Order: sequence, then C-alpha cells, then structure tokens
Amino acid sequence: MRRNWQIKLLAIALLFSLLLVTGCTKQVFKFDIPESEIPTITVLAYHRILDGGPSFIDVSTSMFDNHLTWLEQNGYNVISYDKFIDFLDGKGNLPEKPVLITFDDGYKETYTNAMPILAKHEMPAVLFIYSNRMKDYSFDGGLSVTELREMQRKGWSIQAHTVTHADLSLFSPHAKASAMYEMAQNKKDIESKLGTEVTGLAYPYGAYTPEVEQWAQEAGFKAAFLIEEGPNTYDDIHPYRIKRHMLYQKDTLEDFARKVTSSPLQVIRTVPEQAQVIDYRPATVIADVVLPEGVKVVKVYADIESEDLSARFDAEKQRVIVDTASVGRGHHNMTIKLLGSDGRTYVYGWSYVIQ
Ligand SMILES: [Zn+2]
Repeated sequence: MRRNWQIKLLAIALLFSLLLVTGCTKQVFKFDIPESEIPTITVLAYHRILDGGPSFIDVSTSMFDNHLTWLEQNGYNVISYDKFIDFLDGKGNLPEKPVLITFDDGYKETYTNAMPILAKHEMPAVLFIYSNRMKDYSFDGGLSVTELREMQRKGWSIQAHTVTHADLSLFSPHAKASAMYEMAQNKKDIESKLGTEVTGLAYPYGAYTPEVEQWAQEAGFKAAFLIEEGPNTYDDIHPYRIKRHMLYQKDTLEDFARKVTSSPLQVIRTVPEQAQVIDYRPATVIADVVLPEGVKVVKVYADIESEDLSARFDAEKQRVIVDTASVGRGHHNMTIKLLGSDGRTYVYGWSYVIQ
C-alpha cells in the first residue's frame, strides 16, 4: 500500500514538473535539424528610394525594382505586416521563403518612388514613421496624412519610429519618462491621425538597451525592429529584437541576393553581449560560433554600420575576433559574415553601446 502511494506521488510530481517545463517554454517551434536549415524570415530595411541620392542609404529606383524582380524570380513571398504579427502571436502560418519589406523615417520619396514600384509588383510594405515627419507638409520632405492613407489603401502598414527620431539608447533609467513619451506619443499621433492600430516600433538607428526594450513593451508595442543583420529563425524569433538587413546605395544586386539568401550563424556567446552597455572601448570584439558539421571557414568579414573592420577566425576556439580599436562611443551595429566551405554565407549581427 505504502509503495503504491509513493508511486502515485512520484507520478504527480513528474506530471507537475512536465507542465511547468512546457508552460515555461516560449518557443513556438522546435526543430530537430541543424540551425542553418531552420526556416527563416528575412526582413529588409530601406530608407529612401531615390536616383543619384546624396546619402549612402539612398537606393536607386531601378535597383529597388531589380530587388523586387529578384525576389519574384527566386520564389520569395513578400508578406504584410499583419501576417507577420499574426505569426509572432502564434496565429497563422507564413508562406515559404517569407520576406517583410520595411522603410524607416517617412521620406516623401517613400510615397513618390517606392510606393509605385511596390504597387507594380503587388507587394505590401511597412513604413516606420516618426511624428515630426507627418505634420502635413510642415516638415519639408515628410508625408501628409492624405498620402499615408493612400499608402495604406495600397497595402502599406504605418508603424512607429518615435516622435523626434531619438536615439533611445541614450536615455538612462532616470529619463524613462522622456523615452516613454518618444514611443507612446508617436504611437498616439499615428493612431489618431490615421485611425489604425500601431503595434510595431523601429528603434531609430536600431539603438536600444534592455531597458528600452522593456519600455517599448510597456508603451504597448508587440514588436520592435532592429538594424542588426541576419535572418530571423522560426524557433528563436524575439519579438522585441527583430533583425533586419539594411540595404545601401553601394550594394550590388549580388550583395542584395547574398543578404536575402544568407544562413543564420549560430553564436553561443559574444563579448560584448547583444544590447549590452559598456563603459570602455574594447580593442577586440569576439563571437564564439558553431558551424554545421564538416563546414570550414573560408573567409571572415566584419563591419560596423556598414564600414569594414578587420577580422580573423580562430579555428581551434571556433571564435571570430574583430579588431575594434577604431570604434568610438555610441550605439553600434556589428555584423559578422563567414563564407563557409559549403558555399553558404553565415551571418550574425548584434549591437552594443559604448557609453
Ligand atoms: Zn530612422
């Protein structure tokens, strides 16, 4: 009798711990396949579509058109913001090879140049606009409410990018109220002018800290977008750390294709860590990586804000070492790319702040 009772107790304890474990698991998907084979979502980040633009973030109209044609010809499916959010919420599936196209800031060329090209390809997009760019032409080069409404009718979703395009990583915990104003007021501005819900935020400059991430959640956002490179893998997509590939004027169509087709690089540890705030200037930054079995590193690349840095690979430690002696204070988006002996490009991006 006593033994039976013990077995029953053990069974209850086991069941309880199993419930506890499954209840705590926030991952929606679990794949028993190598990291590089797990389905991914690619998010692209553009700023201005403009021919002969003065800035390194201006992409020409013909190149942008070529990007969209390339996506069509290679079996990619451009998804809407709503579909993406539903997926994050655990509702609904995504088509194969999903791509989300996003624009930051709210340049007038988003309406005059980007919108017609996307409409030609029948593709939706997202615009993250900051309030100061949507004041009915009072800001030179911004977008009016009438234009934003027309964009919405053509499949665009209008989301948040703060009130003044503030670098949120500069707000200390003491300045929480100001940071909250930047995020919540922008959300309110868009919602009141357009009458549509705002649930997504792109951190200006991709700059954030763990506190900012927490505040974005408190301000009512369901998702936040970075400028850290790399595909988002289905099994560990982080709603407040959505990675995006930035497109630059200097990028060739091959560079674009390499970004879209890149494989996620599995990283065990980086120093500094993702979103870490440090008070010194490190001479080197490291990332400990795991490559698929049998894959060797052919070449290592690293860049910060798209400026190349020298990097090497320590095969014994499976460690990427990036020379960062020239990197100064501020928030930094670091990207490492490994060309593998299997012909794939493995990418991992993360950011940190030097105070
Ligand atoms: Zn911006």
